[in-house]
Amino acid sequence: MSVLVILEQRGELKPCAFEAAWAAGRIARAAGMPLHAVYLGPALPGAEQLSGLGIAVVHAFEDASLAHYTSDAYVPLVTGLARELNATVLIGSASALGKELCASVAAQLDVELAQDVLELGWDAGLTARKPIYAGKVLADLRVSSVPAMASLRPNVVAVVRDESPVPEIVRHPVPASAPRIAVKEVTQAPPGTIELTEAKRVVSGGRGIMGPENWPVLKSLCDALGAALGASRAAVDAGWIHHSHQVGQTGKVVSPDLYVACGISGAIQHQAGMRPARIIVAINKDAQANIFNVCDYGIVGDLFEIVPLLTEEIRKVQS
Ligand SMILES: Cc1cc2nc3c(=O)[nH]c(=O)nc-3n(C[C@H](O)[C@H](O)[C@H](O)COP(=O)(O)OP(=O)(O)OC[C@H]3O[C@@H](n4cnc5c(N)ncnc54)[C@H](O)[C@@H]3O)c2cc1C
Repeated sequence: MSVLVILEQRGELKPCAFEAAWAAGRIARAAGMPLHAVYLGPALPGAEQLSGLGIAVVHAFEDASLAHYTSDAYVPLVTGLARELNATVLIGSASALGKELCASVAAQLDVELAQDVLELGWDAGLTARKPIYAGKVLADLRVSSVPAMASLRPNVVAVVRDESPVPEIVRHPVPASAPRIAVKEVTQAPPGTIELTEAKRVVSGGRGIMGPENWPVLKSLCDALGAALGASRAAVDAGWIHHSHQVGQTGKVVSPDLYVACGISGAIQHQAGMRPARIIVAINKDAQANIFNVCDYGIVGDLFEIVPLLTEEIRKVQS
């Protein structure tokens, strides 16, 4: 009996790996089970960064062929390890990669999966809180299959380390296989680009930005705040920005500490992607805009006046 957590990497371990490990550690403690972790990648980065999370053992599958995720290579290794450890609970991250990996592993193990949850707990079994109906309802779930599986949304927990030591590392051989999927090319976002779903701060623009030529106004605020750039579907559908920036029901779900909505009316489908943000700031020239019903701070005014002033003030505070 054990709790197993999947550590996601992209060269380095991703922040969501530490978050999932921390959440899994709390479950392991509550359930009185050891916490194991699995790493799949080219080479496990320094194990000391995994101290303080309650991980007893890290199972490392290290091979150049695992540098990039493919379901072909990853799923059998995670599934096999979960069976070998007789895992009672299996936790992953609800990142783009993690959602696919967890769903595939759950299918292989023929178990239930609570996907994209905001909270995890233990009450004689795995419990989870998950937004449903585009975030309008929070469902409290009990996952009864063994292993009980869940994927944790990035950015929803604050990792607080304890005194637990550097985990033991057990290196497993990676069986030679003839994968049906090969990653031929990876196109990196330009240096400095912050991944929307993992960003601590997000500045988003909607139809109110009036056209693609005006993104620099929001990008300056992004630079000042160290924020990722998001967009409403109206801005994406107008062809002003790539869909990868879309926040909402049919876009990405973000859970930053700060979300600044500029020229966005606050349709329910947009809210579905940003309601978990801790602080929401809205800038809109229509005082009746729906976004003002869900924001913590609202500024009624023209974004082309407000955003440059805000950017300037933030830069002054920083200098
Ligand atoms: C099935 C389905 C899925 C959807 N999925 C998504 C989704 O994932 N994400 C999403 O965003 N939407 C989604 N939508 C669309 C959604 O319903 C809205 O149409 C969309 O969010 C509106 O985008 P917007 O707020 O940018 O535009 P609008 O609703 O047109 O609002 C523009 C706002 O800008 C303000 N404004 C204009 N000029 C200025 C200015 N100079 N300064 C300040 N404010 C200004 C206006 O007052 C207005 O409030 C979905 C819809 C459906 C039916």
